[in-house]
Amino acid sequence: MKYIDEFRDGAVARELSRAICREAGAERHYQFMEFCGGHTHAISRHGVTDLLPRNVRMVHGPGCPVCVLPIGRVDIAIQLALKEHVVLCTYGDVLRVPASGNLSLLKAKALGADIRMIYSAADALTLARENPDRQVVFFAIGFETTTPPTAVVLREARDLGVGNFSVLCNHVLTPAAIVNILESPEVRELGTVPLDGFVGPAHVSSIIGTEPYEFFASEYRKPVVIAGFEPLDVLQAILMLIRQVNDGRAEVENQFTRVVTREGNVAAQTLVSEVFELRRSFEWRGLGVVPYSALRIRDTFAAYDAERRWPLAYQQVRDNKACDCGAILRGLKHPTDCKLFGTVCTPETPMGSCMVSSEGACAAHYSYGRFRDSRELAS
Ligand code: SF4
Repeated sequence: MKYIDEFRDGAVARELSRAICREAGAERHYQFMEFCGGHTHAISRHGVTDLLPRNVRMVHGPGCPVCVLPIGRVDIAIQLALKEHVVLCTYGDVLRVPASGNLSLLKAKALGADIRMIYSAADALTLARENPDRQVVFFAIGFETTTPPTAVVLREARDLGVGNFSVLCNHVLTPAAIVNILESPEVRELGTVPLDGFVGPAHVSSIIGTEPYEFFASEYRKPVVIAGFEPLDVLQAILMLIRQVNDGRAEVENQFTRVVTREGNVAAQTLVSEVFELRRSFEWRGLGVVPYSALRIRDTFAAYDAERRWPLAYQQVRDNKACDCGAILRGLKHPTDCKLFGTVCTPETPMGSCMVSSEGACAAHYSYGRFRDSRELAS
């Protein structure tokens, strides 16, 4: 097994496409949300929507960690770097997320702040050990997939007694975000975003397993199919969702069996719960303040918590009025609905977070869909 080629086989993709067209009843519409930015990217990159009939539509969800990071959290990181003169390190995409005052971490770096790009949580701790006379803060973001590595470095910092290291924690939780979407007026009352089911996250589910989604299936009567990130994974998941809808079933099914189990990675879950606990509330870009949707560092690791080491006041900041990221992250709008898409806002000059990461709906659409849009408009 080569793990990639066989999941990109064109002949199998056409076969799956024919099955979807055959089984999607012409008399009804199907609308599924791909929660994860990885799926959004895969769908755009491999032209999955071109293989679907017109009555099967995919809606982007909020599962891109860079996209959902609210401006206020980036402002705090900039404040730490500019005013407290710490070495602030984080992943590459985060550096370009627009913040208040026309700033971003990258622009703050140009103003003299010591901000560095790292490739892993382990790099952050290495940086602290190499610079014992500087305070090093890791601006940690991400869903359940990137939380265990942050837990590992926090435990290692404590065990090694690295006193100049701390973490500004922004780790968020998938199930809480899905509940928020299902409870939103657009989905529940107005029917503006009719959702027939979810393509569930791949990597996140390798950590948390499929069990947490069983609640959505039973309580909200929404089918969930956990899927891998290759085009055949996504097509097969869509077919599985259509079959559930046609049968009147609302179950959790696992297409990504080569990686995901029902119980998930128990060792990683244990590690995470040793280091982190639930935050009462956390602001998400697009979703607003969502209760119990993120993690904070436990008291036992308080010495490594940047939010306790410095007096950081979080302030909610409104998004740029012209940017439709919030509506896109809730499935209400499409990237091309935004007036700034592809003109003022491009991956080189992002005005909103959805244009920053390749997993963001706007960036994915800009990279792989914008020429098709103009062809469709011309025809
Ligand atoms: S195109 Fe840019 S400004 Fe418009 S919604 Fe997307 S990220 Fe925001």
